[in-house]
Amino acid sequence: MAVPKSQVGENKARIIVVGAGPVGLFQALSLYLKGIECVIMEKRSEAISDTRSLGIHPPCLVMLEELGLLSQFLKKGIRVDKGIAHNGRKKLGEINFSTTQRSGQKHPYILIHPQNETEAILKNAFKELYPHNIKYGYEVTSYRDNGDHLVVYSHKVPHSTENQLTDSQEHRTPILIACDGKNSTLRSMAGIPYRGSPYPDSYAMGDFPDPEYLPSPPFVYITSEGLVESFPIADQKRRWVIKTEHYQSKPQPKWLSEAIYKRVGERPNADSCSMISSFGVQHHRAAFRQKNRLFLVGDAAHVVSPIGGQGMNLGWLGAWQLAKDVKKLNNKGVLYEPSENPIPLTSYSTNFDAVVTEVARRAHWNMRMGRKSKLQWLKQLFIQILLYIPVSSRKLAERFTMSNLPTK
Ligand SMILES: Cc1cc2nc3c(=O)[nH]c(=O)nc-3n(C[C@H](O)[C@H](O)[C@H](O)COP(=O)(O)OP(=O)(O)OC[C@H]3O[C@@H](n4cnc5c(N)ncnc54)[C@H](O)[C@@H]3O)c2cc1C
Repeated sequence: MAVPKSQVGENKARIIVVGAGPVGLFQALSLYLKGIECVIMEKRSEAISDTRSLGIHPPCLVMLEELGLLSQFLKKGIRVDKGIAHNGRKKLGEINFSTTQRSGQKHPYILIHPQNETEAILKNAFKELYPHNIKYGYEVTSYRDNGDHLVVYSHKVPHSTENQLTDSQEHRTPILIACDGKNSTLRSMAGIPYRGSPYPDSYAMGDFPDPEYLPSPPFVYITSEGLVESFPIADQKRRWVIKTEHYQSKPQPKWLSEAIYKRVGERPNADSCSMISSFGVQHHRAAFRQKNRLFLVGDAAHVVSPIGGQGMNLGWLGAWQLAKDVKKLNNKGVLYEPSENPIPLTSYSTNFDAVVTEVARRAHWNMRMGRKSKLQWLKQLFIQILLYIPVSSRKLAERFTMSNLPTK
């Protein structure tokens, strides 16, 4: 068993977690660590195949260690100790992540680990603990608040060969944790506003073979044509991300390779491009993360720009905090005791707002740095100075590793 043993048990209605994305799975394991059993309901019947979220930051590496899973992540992940800032013609400086050890990081590096494999490790760990507590192919459609408990309605998602919806099922739960992504059904059901808007920025990205592979660290190019990022990923490839003027609905490898060449003088091999796509970015936040016995976690509660790779990590930080809060509620006897009183607000529901604000601010800054500007030389000079001075360089390393967040 990969996860440390805890005192789970007692014959009570189990907590339901909706969504087996990276945050739902992580939430379920964090609850297990606190001695609380839950059931996950997921509408998909197949695992995801895309590698969306790649970066795992030091605070989350510690949490994976506590879950007993870090060694599995390290086996396949790529450890990144530093990043290079460049302007396409010359190096502007280096960000050394190992300096975050001074601000207390036990694992002072970023681990590059694709989201599909992250989900696979978390899923297997949970299945090892509770082989029957993860229900794939079940869509949660609504819930009813009965005061001292909730009733959750779901149905089995029909396979393509079936055309009938199966009957709705009902499950009782003391609390419901919605990790059902940015278009959360449960958030809508609860009438919780999701405020935010799209940014004007758009990006294209592609995976190409990397002739130099591991020796070359991640690069962030601040060029006059806009941001370019490049970092090593699994299978001896490199991911390239570029800021685009307009959203490209069908980017082509040759176009992407040429755009990279124009900005930084490197031309990845377009014929061997194994993935290419475009994405727009947005920021959203739920007006509140708790409504009596319903909690929103992960993208259901907040979306930040993926530039800087913080979204999933932010969801994990929230899930970790909520697991601690749920344990406290359980210890106080408010979770399972019949009471018409609403569940008290938790630390996750109140204090975690400061963390979301800070992460969103950092993501916003990352994007601004990558935009085209008339005063590009000034921006480059600013970055050069920041990286030259040890104190500011260390501060920048902290920002890029999700260190020093106002977590309680
Ligand atoms: C291009 C890109 C790059 C990114 N890079 C990074 C990165 O490097 N680092 C990082 O930290 N983050 C990154 N992110 C963000 C990260 O991918 C998301 O924050 C993360 O996937 C959110 O996880 P989640 O579990 O909250 O939601 P999701 O991944 O959306 O999972 C939600 C799950 O709920 C299920 N579900 C939905 N509705 C229901 C229902 N009614 N009933 C049952 N199941 C349901 C869905 O099928 C899904 O499996 C990136 C995002 C993008 C787009």
